[in-house]
Amino acid sequence: MESIKKHKKLVILGGGESGVGTAILGKQKGYQVFVSDKGSISEKYKDVLKHFEIDWEEQQHTEAKIFEADVVMKSPGIPDHIALIKQIKQKDIPVISEIEFAGIYTDATIIGITGSNGKTTTTMLTYHILNTGNLDVGMAGNIGDSFAKTVAEKTHKHYVLELSSFQLDGIREFAPHIAMITNITPDHLDRYNNDFEQYIASKFRIAMNQTSNDYLIYDADDKVITSYLEKHPVRSQLIPFSLEKKLEKGVYLENNNIKIKVDNTEFTMPTSELTLKGKHNVKNAMAASAAAHLLRIRKATIRESLENFQGVEHRLEDVLKINNVRYINDSKATNVNATFYALDAMKTSTVWIVGGVDKGNDYSDLYALVNEKVKAIICLGVDNRKIIHAFQNCIDTIVETASMTEAVKAAYEIAERNDNVLLSPACASFDLFESYEDRGRQFKQAVREL
Ligand code: ADP
Repeated sequence: MESIKKHKKLVILGGGESGVGTAILGKQKGYQVFVSDKGSISEKYKDVLKHFEIDWEEQQHTEAKIFEADVVMKSPGIPDHIALIKQIKQKDIPVISEIEFAGIYTDATIIGITGSNGKTTTTMLTYHILNTGNLDVGMAGNIGDSFAKTVAEKTHKHYVLELSSFQLDGIREFAPHIAMITNITPDHLDRYNNDFEQYIASKFRIAMNQTSNDYLIYDADDKVITSYLEKHPVRSQLIPFSLEKKLEKGVYLENNNIKIKVDNTEFTMPTSELTLKGKHNVKNAMAASAAAHLLRIRKATIRESLENFQGVEHRLEDVLKINNVRYINDSKATNVNATFYALDAMKTSTVWIVGGVDKGNDYSDLYALVNEKVKAIICLGVDNRKIIHAFQNCIDTIVETASMTEAVKAAYEIAERNDNVLLSPACASFDLFESYEDRGRQFKQAVREL
């Protein structure tokens, strides 16, 4: 973005991973950088800012300094509707995201991945395949290091980026060569005026600057995606994937084999060989291998990578088997859709640990699966009324617990040989835990102590 390159004063709102990453890159590119955080900045990031001699403040926003900016980078956690952002926009100062800023300083081929669920898994899987295929590839975005920091440190030829809708809201010219939308289900609607259409549009920004040389890989079984695409066509080449139908062009299932048909060559791989379990992971594998195929990774390498990918912590993670009962940590399932696929992946009777901060869940999507697979529900939240109300007519055993140790012990008492104990909360974790990671770690700890 030439117009921004010439700007001198870069103000960064938010001193977290993306803010500090942008500060490092901005400083390296000769900007006068000022980082402002309304909350406190962690010691780790303060040390980095001091090391690079970057000017910063915390616990306040000094408006006089902020309004001097030629360009503002707003961290993804800061909503658009707050007064400060409105004022900055009124002054015609461009407000961009870290992704837009970093994108200016690299010519690398970008593989950008968004969606409501499956971003991290698909990002890591795609990176794993490309890395195994010996491409010079980096991984960043909403995962690990910020894109900006990665670009400041080392320029790779390819980047696999996990992109949240908030990061996409702040792009202007950023265009991935390969974009993926894993699925779209209602989430974060508080940031989109409770308007699902706005959230969908935000996800589709990933394709807005693509050209006919670029690709959009998406779930063709997801009606939200397909109907949006019908009404709002994109310029890029469409690569749909489907578990339900055979496709002329795209990725689909045939006799339990994944088939990729996007050019003259064909790729086939049995789903039984995938290390990751569950239908959702077949979809993630389809998306990742389609991207790898487009980047000319050898078929044998794609197959081998899908066969040895070790999965991601807190996503349907196998913890232990005790008395022939499998304990599974799916703490990252913070919405109903993710839990739907977790329950769907259970092959035997399951004791299900669920609950936390409900973000407006509609549990009716789970009724059929719960009837079929769940023998008992262990509620783990401060307020469990909604879960009890939703399931009391289909499950006899519903137990309320208030700590992870209590929940795991209750599950242990109920589970019998060959059952599963699944932590898949369908809710955020903040009532009883610091984060979903904390919740998942406490689960694993409690299981190991049984
Ligand atoms: P994100 O980064 O989008 O939150 P993750 O890969 O961290 O996605 O997975 C979040 C949760 O969603 C986990 O519980 C995981 O098992 C589940 N999940 C992963 N992929 C999918 C998918 N394609 N569709 C639905 N749920 C998924």
